[in-house]
Amino acid sequence: MAGEEIMFVPLGGGDNIGASCYYLKLGRSNILLDCGRGFDGGKFSFSPNFYTLLKFIDSLDCISQVYISHSHLDHVGALPEFLNAAPHCAAYMTQKSLILTAHQFNKNFNKNFNKINKLNNFNDVLINRVTPVSFDQSFKFKFNNYNYAVSFYPAGHIPGAMMTLFEYRDRYKIKNILYTGDYSLRQSALSGGCVLPDANKDIDILIICAVNVLRRERVNYNSLDIIVNKVLRVLKAGRNVYCFAPQLSKGIELLKALNINLPENFRIYIDDAVFNLIKKFEVTEPIINYRNYYIDEEPKDNAPHVTLSANKPRYKDYMLKPVRSRDVFINANFSLHDDFDLTLKFIKQINPKTAVIVHYDGSHKDVSVSVEQELMRDAECRTQFIFAENNQAYYL
Ligand SMILES: [Zn+2]
Repeated sequence: MAGEEIMFVPLGGGDNIGASCYYLKLGRSNILLDCGRGFDGGKFSFSPNFYTLLKFIDSLDCISQVYISHSHLDHVGALPEFLNAAPHCAAYMTQKSLILTAHQFNKNFNKNFNKINKLNNFNDVLINRVTPVSFDQSFKFKFNNYNYAVSFYPAGHIPGAMMTLFEYRDRYKIKNILYTGDYSLRQSALSGGCVLPDANKDIDILIICAVNVLRRERVNYNSLDIIVNKVLRVLKAGRNVYCFAPQLSKGIELLKALNINLPENFRIYIDDAVFNLIKKFEVTEPIINYRNYYIDEEPKDNAPHVTLSANKPRYKDYMLKPVRSRDVFINANFSLHDDFDLTLKFIKQINPKTAVIVHYDGSHKDVSVSVEQELMRDAECRTQFIFAENNQAYYL
């Protein structure tokens, strides 16, 4: 019956990566999953396609709730802009995501991003409009006779990341819909792996951010272990390393891994961007140790060391500091996503009736190596796959 259906429309981050934002209509409830900003080569950025959304609702303010999975900018970067256009919409994310999001919207953290965004009231919008949620919490929303309940689960990936479970009741039955956001089964140094809903919660629809759903040949192409080993090899060969860790928590993740894995005589120098973020984390977890130094301290001797920074090295600094000019540059942009085999395992474990794949690279679509192809041969798997495309409506 009209009005009760479930509809799903990617406004960005469907068959591409960047500006993740998905419209989910549960009967009369209009919901957004994430509200990110995409970045093109670091210079240009783009918002989700809100024009598509206006084909289905009268104004952006008809959206009543937006759930933010985690604090990476491709999932939260367009939130202040959206909330300004939708004054009655409520936003939800974990407390940790809120802290990390506010940190990124701070002028000094990401100069490019703030140049692109003309709004200067980011943090006011966040503080006034976001309701922090926790993993033991559940909310109910009711519209006429149709309603849904929502609850949250740790997603792994980065600290604060959550999966969102919707239990939607239409006229006939309850349907369970799980949105993963970026997630990882694999444990990382800072955040454990994801925690799935009870096995007795039968998931009807899984909406999954599955970066590696198609690309078997590139499994684990850039894992944290590989980078740590590379650093170690260079240091042992007597040379310095300059590690560039550009994305939010990756610098901290790498620092923790280096502190654990490098022999004690190697020192690690960190810069402001990494240090200030560490202060946000250290409340719950000590990260800095005796071998970590501030980047401006002169090296005490010529023993090889690591410089860890969220910025690319500046040429003029190289000229001023001959010691650092011998650094070997390593781009520490490792993947925080599950590889192909783990993606397979995750979908198998949940075994949803429908898996809606988003956040994948549609231009590389080669069905012969997709998770779908692999699971077709599995007798226990009941899953039908939808590879969702941007701006297309799917009735589920
Ligand atoms: Zn992410």
